[in-house]
Amino acid sequence: MKFNRPTVDVGKAQDLLLQHLTPLEAEIVPLLESFGRTLAEDVHATHPVPHFVKSGMDGYAVRAVDIQGATPETPALLKVNEVIPCGSLPTKPIGPGEAARIMTGAMLPEGADTVVMFEMTEERQEAGGDEGFEKKESLKYAVVFKEVPLGRNVSQIGEEMAAGELLLERGRTIQAGEAALLATFGFSEVPVVRRPRVAIFTTGSELLAVDAPLQPGKIRNSNRYMLTSLVQSASAQVVSLQTVPDDIEQARALVCDWMNRVDVVLTSGGVSVGDFDIMADLLDNWDGQVLFQKIEMRPGSVTSAAARGNAFLCALSGNPGACFVGFELFVRPVLHGLQARRQVLPTAFTAVLRGDYPKANIYARYLRGQTLLHEGKVYVEPVGKDQSSVTVSIKDSDCLIVIPPGGGVRDGEMVTALRLPSQPYA
Ligand code: AMP
Ligand code: MG
Repeated sequence: MKFNRPTVDVGKAQDLLLQHLTPLEAEIVPLLESFGRTLAEDVHATHPVPHFVKSGMDGYAVRAVDIQGATPETPALLKVNEVIPCGSLPTKPIGPGEAARIMTGAMLPEGADTVVMFEMTEERQEAGGDEGFEKKESLKYAVVFKEVPLGRNVSQIGEEMAAGELLLERGRTIQAGEAALLATFGFSEVPVVRRPRVAIFTTGSELLAVDAPLQPGKIRNSNRYMLTSLVQSASAQVVSLQTVPDDIEQARALVCDWMNRVDVVLTSGGVSVGDFDIMADLLDNWDGQVLFQKIEMRPGSVTSAAARGNAFLCALSGNPGACFVGFELFVRPVLHGLQARRQVLPTAFTAVLRGDYPKANIYARYLRGQTLLHEGKVYVEPVGKDQSSVTVSIKDSDCLIVIPPGGGVRDGEMVTALRLPSQPYA
């Protein structure tokens, strides 16, 4: 079986995973803890925004008709009734020839319909000018040097959002903009989809703990940290994190136990055809559904997946590059799907390839790449070493460049690439 696995292409493998998937249930969390989570219900505006007529500027609330025709030479003179700070209510209506000093966001007084910004006005203590006046706090005037159209700098009720309007659809990820809207409408708690619970098991008798000194023939377990970071970036929760030697019985016991306790068991290593590839053996004798055991892709053709009940087993290659690519193509979509996200698969885009990629492939190749925007064009460039064993180029990749099966692709040709959620700024 190990050597004669039926193959599927990447799209088919993703379909097999997604078809098996049932979104998780909703739960209520405090707004401050909802970031990165998926909204479980549609959110409608519970009131109009703004819900009162308000000023969009620091200035004078006026009647537009009173400042019609005002110019620096022929300014309009208005008597100032009061000062309206933000958060306070106006106490006096604006009659003909009157104005109120008003701050941004404050409620417009009755009778006013327009706000003139301070920059177009001057303050006077009395109607005739400032020369030789006696300071009378109660009597102030505004000189307006410019006519502004009716309604300028005033936000009407419901101007931004009408009551009942659909604002956020379920399936949306809560980020800054969503959080601001939820707060606007008083959602101190938010219905979100439960985080998928994930167990991560890194397999390999060669693996050392991160704080262990190096030993000949052994390497530090970097996938443990890479996968934890990736799982967290998909808003899922790591509930078990263990390292297993290449011992089939130990691995079987651990995987079988945790398949009943989590939504996804994620493993790295042991899926190839080597003598100690325990995950391959485990899948050959799996007492559930094997979804796929070989994919027509590089790196990570041995990436495998199985299911039992609603739980998934995603078995990635131990090679860090392949492990990363396998996570982005198959595991993140599962974690997004479980959270009922609107966008489950990575976004594909077309771009111009920078540099030749002459290597012939029998399978599609998913190259770690970097997106470059230059003079109105989108380019993608391989980040360097792209062997499946290479760790150093993972940090620089913001996309996966898809090289179709065949004789390679030349510099300047169009390729498809998949966006990765982590976007380095380099
Ligand atoms: P495997 O998929 O088990 O055949 O592993 C392939 C290669 O990936 C191993 O020879 C290691 O060099 C490397 N590898 C496996 N597991 C890890 C890990 N957890 N962290 C870093 N490298 C790993
Ligand atoms: Mg191994």
